[in-house]
Amino acid sequence: MLEDKNFSKTPIASLGEFGLIDRLIEPFTIKNESSENSIGDDCAIINPLGKKIVISTDFLTEGVHFNLGYVPLKHLGYKSVVVNISDIAAMNATPTQILVSIAVSNRFPVEALEEIYAGIKLACDRYSIDLVGGDTASSNAGLVINITAIGLANDEEIVKRAGAKVNDLVVVTGDLGAAYLGLQILEREHSVFLANPNMQPEMEGYDYILERQLKPEARTDVKKSLEDLGITPTSMIDISDGLASEILHVSKQSKVGFRIYEDRIPMDSLTVTTAEELNLNPIVCAMNGGEDYELLMTVSPNDFEKIKNHPDFTIIGHVVDEQQGNFLVLKGSQELSQITAQGWNVFGD
Ligand code: ADP
Ligand code: MG
Repeated sequence: MLEDKNFSKTPIASLGEFGLIDRLIEPFTIKNESSENSIGDDCAIINPLGKKIVISTDFLTEGVHFNLGYVPLKHLGYKSVVVNISDIAAMNATPTQILVSIAVSNRFPVEALEEIYAGIKLACDRYSIDLVGGDTASSNAGLVINITAIGLANDEEIVKRAGAKVNDLVVVTGDLGAAYLGLQILEREHSVFLANPNMQPEMEGYDYILERQLKPEARTDVKKSLEDLGITPTSMIDISDGLASEILHVSKQSKVGFRIYEDRIPMDSLTVTTAEELNLNPIVCAMNGGEDYELLMTVSPNDFEKIKNHPDFTIIGHVVDEQQGNFLVLKGSQELSQITAQGWNVFGD
């Protein structure tokens, strides 16, 4: 894929490490008062301005987390930032800074790295965050990107995975399963292409699910919506690995059980029709698919009136006692299916 690109091919070695860093960071400007010292020193300095600092870090490894056969480099840069600030949003904090470390083989020309950084810059601008540092190294085994994201929040605003209480409502933002189906379409068309490079990929009509896979957004807007509604969730987590696994994380940290109603799980109609086309169960895609980067939260039942009609939020279930376990209530039958990390199993199976 890199070979097909039309960009000029300046070898990294011709710039040297420092010349490369200078060139990559040149377009970035500082936007946040909390970014007191940025790139060019031994350390960045973050001024928390009286708030708490939340920090998270994530790896993206070529061949494991992404495939350069069908992921454009600019999208890769954008998504690397988004997946990190999604974790900050999940704490009900505001992302402010990132550090980007990149290990790259010399098969990458400078222009390919500039594409990745163009995506990183797009995300920094979209989310008003500052690139304040990083590291650059060579790799013999593909591209590795590690991003550390930093955010700020007032102490009382921070929401953890622990805190869900029996009878709380279970709420998700947006819709689920689309990113997984976008990936299935990309993989299908990529294997068609590998078998016959003259075949044109058939991506038409799949825009929404492809965008959910290639250019996801982090729900940094939810903090404001919750503030406006006067709601502080009792627990929150971002949906990066599928609803099932996130439910189990909150269950474990909060020491509670969950009842999730199959027919309440929000899905876009294109997600449902694409799942059917590929002979997949749409609910399995929502439960196990991952990469949706929506937020899962629990809120007090007293907040029901505030949240029930809000278009960004869907109530999908409620919290029960830990002994009652984690179950999906199936459509129609009301039968209970145990939620497991791989999805769910009908109890007793
Ligand atoms: P050190 O020798 O302390 O590791 P470097 O020469 O690696 O310092 O980095 C110089 C400056 O450039 C530092 O401020 C560092 O945070 C920043 N930096 C290095 N690599 C990157 C990168 N890939 N993206 C953004 N900033 C970087
Ligand atoms: Mg360094």
